[in-house]
Amino acid sequence: MSVSQSQAESAKASPRRTVRILAPRPWVRTARLTLLIIAAVGLCMYLVVRVASDEPDSEVYHRTLPETTLDWRCDSGHTFRATGQAEPRTCSRCGQPAYPVATFECPRHGPLTVSARYEVGADGITRLSQVRIGSQDWTAAEGGLVCPRCNAPLRRKLRDLFEGMGKPKRPDGR
Ligand SMILES: [Zn+2]
Ligand SMILES: [Zn+2]
Repeated sequence: MSVSQSQAESAKASPRRTVRILAPRPWVRTARLTLLIIAAVGLCMYLVVRVASDEPDSEVYHRTLPETTLDWRCDSGHTFRATGQAEPRTCSRCGQPAYPVATFECPRHGPLTVSARYEVGADGITRLSQVRIGSQDWTAAEGGLVCPRCNAPLRRKLRDLFEGMGKPKRPDGR
């Protein structure tokens, strides 16, 4: 190999070296790939969560009163858990009538526990029909209650107990 040949070779090699420097840096590619993977995984998780949360709504199972355990409260304030029924129960501690409780909410004053009455409609679905704050008169469950402190209309805090099966029981057993 002559000196001129090796010079020519190094002259040829130098543009190759230049090309190598201008080539996209590997970390840029890695970063782009990582972002793509994160986006793809995020999309998959979003879809899985959506499908899972949509499922109970697409096929809502309506429980009947005897299938549901409710929180009950008597007119003296004793509370207990018992199977649902349309008629009031009698408190085992004081003999007063007891009604299931439902939670309504004032936008300003927060949640309020009220006595409730359920009714089975012509379609066989159990719904909250009447509610009562303390010893006030019974009133329609929909839009009938106002906050005793500010008169604002109260809204039901929880979804209807009789829709959506498969909800785990609360760990405190209440
Ligand atoms: Zn009682
Ligand atoms: Zn209020």
